[in-house]
Amino acid sequence: MTSQNPERKRIYQVWPGKNKFYCGGRLVFGPDASSLLLTICMIGGPAITFCIRMAFLIQDHHPLFHFVVLIGAILLTFMAFTFLFLTSSRDPGIIPRNKEVPEAEIPDVTTQSTEWVSNKLGSVKVPRTKDVMVNSFTVKVKFCDTCQLYRPPRAFHCSICNNCVQRFDHHCPWVGQCIALRNYPFFVCFLSCSTLLCIYVFVFSWVSMLKVHGEFYVVLADDLILGVLGLYCFVSIWFVGGLCVFHFYLICTNQTTCENFRYHYDKKENPYRKGILENVKELFFARIPPPLIKFRDWAPEEEYDVEVGSISSELMSSGKPDSKAGVR
Ligand SMILES: [Zn+2]
Ligand SMILES: [Zn+2]
Repeated sequence: MTSQNPERKRIYQVWPGKNKFYCGGRLVFGPDASSLLLTICMIGGPAITFCIRMAFLIQDHHPLFHFVVLIGAILLTFMAFTFLFLTSSRDPGIIPRNKEVPEAEIPDVTTQSTEWVSNKLGSVKVPRTKDVMVNSFTVKVKFCDTCQLYRPPRAFHCSICNNCVQRFDHHCPWVGQCIALRNYPFFVCFLSCSTLLCIYVFVFSWVSMLKVHGEFYVVLADDLILGVLGLYCFVSIWFVGGLCVFHFYLICTNQTTCENFRYHYDKKENPYRKGILENVKELFFARIPPPLIKFRDWAPEEEYDVEVGSISSELMSSGKPDSKAGVR
């Protein structure tokens, strides 16, 4: 590989999706990453205010209690921000596009399909859907016109990022990124830490006010900052905590948000469902697969203005590259 040509571009510089890349393509954000600032303010603002209030109270009232509460709040805030960063700055599982449908992926003419579509160059007609076997269930996968590929099971084309993404859950506007195969565990950890932080600030605002000011009915008037923080966290708990509970339900039943909204597995069998323990293990303890695209690699010059990459047909076997399944 030579690098004499100063005009040479890396894959992230010619990537046709709408992602924003930083640090030379090492950090991959969604197109609406700026909404992260609002999320950071909504978590960081109250958390820092709470920490400052606790730091002031250390000097005058119950120093050990307020010191311990302060350390706990700093730790939870730090963890929430770390998981937020890991969620929003990682490649969520973007699938490389094809210039043309690889021949190996064109199903034979006996495939039952009512709708056929032309590929980008118009040279081949391919069925809109094809059947794939997953854990002895037949799953229909759709052809993506933009990415020129049959989406692997559980993958979906995110219209905001303009990419097909593996095990797509949803596009989160608060995080400004697709939530999918490679960042879902971090997203759930972020939600859990945010919920814990809300409960923590809510509970210890009240405990601190009661410890310092005594009577329950006069505390709000005596410490307005902690009163407002307690109220803010009480409202937030319902939103963040609700989302957290919903995602734990999805994890236990091995569904994505997208599948839950579209397919309603309660009415038909979910091919990915295992035991609750297995489902949880799969999400939190399985190795996160490496990205399919090395955004820092040099892009082939002929592809500077359009698509890059080619999907390997073995990906088709399942939503996850390592699970056992075959193409029908
Ligand atoms: Zn696509
Ligand atoms: Zn997206």
